[in-house]
Amino acid sequence: MSTTASPVPATSATTEGTRPATGPILDAAFAGVRRVPEPVNDASRSYAPGTPERAELKARLKSMAAERIDIPIIIGGREIRTGRTAQAVMPHDHSHVLADYHLADPEHVQEAIAAAAAARREWASWPWEDRAAVILRAAELLATSWRSTIVAATMLGQSKTANQAEIDSASEMIDFWRFNAHFAQELYSEQPVSSPGMWNQMEYRALEGFVYAVSPFNFTAIGGNLTTAPALMGNTIVWKPAASAMLSSYYTLRVLEEAGLPPGVINMVPGDPVEISRLLLDSPELAGVHFTGSTAVFNSMWKKVAENLEKYRGYPRIVGETGGKDFIIAHPSADAEAVAVAIARGGFEYQGQKCSAASRVYIPESLWAEVRDRTVAMMKDINVGDVRDFRNFMGAVIDEKAFKKISGYLDDANERARVLQGGTASGKEGFFIQPTLIQTEDPGYRTMREEIFGPVVTAYVYPDGKWHETLETVDRTSPYALTGAVFSRDRRGVREAVSALRNAAGNFYVNDKPTGAVVGQQPFGGSRASGTNDKAGSKLNLVRWVNARTLKETFAPSRDYRHPYMGEE
Ligand code: NAD
Repeated sequence: MSTTASPVPATSATTEGTRPATGPILDAAFAGVRRVPEPVNDASRSYAPGTPERAELKARLKSMAAERIDIPIIIGGREIRTGRTAQAVMPHDHSHVLADYHLADPEHVQEAIAAAAAARREWASWPWEDRAAVILRAAELLATSWRSTIVAATMLGQSKTANQAEIDSASEMIDFWRFNAHFAQELYSEQPVSSPGMWNQMEYRALEGFVYAVSPFNFTAIGGNLTTAPALMGNTIVWKPAASAMLSSYYTLRVLEEAGLPPGVINMVPGDPVEISRLLLDSPELAGVHFTGSTAVFNSMWKKVAENLEKYRGYPRIVGETGGKDFIIAHPSADAEAVAVAIARGGFEYQGQKCSAASRVYIPESLWAEVRDRTVAMMKDINVGDVRDFRNFMGAVIDEKAFKKISGYLDDANERARVLQGGTASGKEGFFIQPTLIQTEDPGYRTMREEIFGPVVTAYVYPDGKWHETLETVDRTSPYALTGAVFSRDRRGVREAVSALRNAAGNFYVNDKPTGAVVGQQPFGGSRASGTNDKAGSKLNLVRWVNARTLKETFAPSRDYRHPYMGEE
């Protein structure tokens, strides 16, 4: 294996023994009530032809593709290399190896638990503003010197286009980091009232133990949030990133290290997910699970926690955002062109590999011909290929397993439904699946019910007079309830859909595609089989990572045990 140096900004990443485990003890707390800077959403870069950012990103893509880096396990700030490695490849050119990453053994999992416990002692006792300052500095580094590295790693390692990588790994991650500091401040500011003669206070303590963060492949920003949201609140973390997002996950941790995150606050242990999870969930030190991924995996983790309940010091917090089967329903009054654009963008951007991707659509007969023709015309225009060619709208799906699974759905649809466009796949150089539109006459057909996680949209055409029945069908068809959209120019249509589909989506859109939630603007998460709906990037999420203690101080304690009513008549 050849390893070349990564031309990334100098960082404080360390090798064994070069960094102290704890910092100097501070002798005085900051005197003043501090306020974090008001957060503003990051302005995404366009990467349009001729812009300096395009030239910078292209140069970074070239240099990153030319290197093959070695990714260690990171525990307590130490880099550990087991020699047992796996490869991170480009999904759109799967023989191209970007990195070799070291796999953790069971002893490393135990070391990570110990490192998290050691770091917690100091980190949890920091003034929260100082923890926020580390995360805010990381946001600044990501917005500037690290931006092209993280975006390029997300493009190459996860096959995102420049636009999709930008809105995820740069803008969304920056927003998570800046807005969470603001939401933490709001939460910490919530204090009880005090009657005369006393002072009631609420202390938002960190959880007693470590938080296990488990991230999916499809958003770099999710790994950056699952770890830092609990860390901001004083917790320390053991992080298992997804195997197919190792490159961007590694760089994310390096940004945080450069920003001054103390060793041991986030410990990264790549490796066998089943074994690593078993060991971590078996630990009496487990205080929380912060998960994003598929419903089946989350269910298995929840069951494991339940089995182990007697072992833990407390009840672990379990937060999981899981699968989706997201819908678009068009009212007969809808704008057909807007519906078609929402299908193309909402269904096929990032190859449909968003938990929020539109994958089942319900169109009235009167609009169907126009919606279908417009959608198919856009699909014919879409280029699928290597994300380094900026003319492409879509890259490859993440890996062979996903490629085979999606291909299976296409084979079935070719037999049992009508494939109107796409329906083909080619896995020779990259895992490419053409954007596919299926029409079915069975609203319960499997591609209307099951999460495919690929560029496959199925349409069901309903008689215009069956609007209310169709709303019911949308609500009942799938176990998920993540995102959904209604298109209607008639306000009654909007109101009826908002009401009938109240529990069918945690993020509901009116006349817009069901993807693209922005931190601080559309807090994200779903219910039913889509997760615990703790809304990533909001105060609702942060509240799960604290264990509140109420403190009552009485200024003048009673000196008599008797109550007035006991007096003589
Ligand atoms: P996944 O469930 O396969 O993997 C998620 C994480 O769990 C990875 O780190 C993986 O290594 C780990 N894992 C896998 N099997 C495990 C096991 N048996 N025990 C313990 N850990 C295990 O999901 P994925 O393919 O990475 O991501 C796609 C899924 O994530 C989709 O279902 C998508 O809807 C969901 N998702 C949901 C949201 C949301 O906010 N609701 C966001 C992004 C992705």
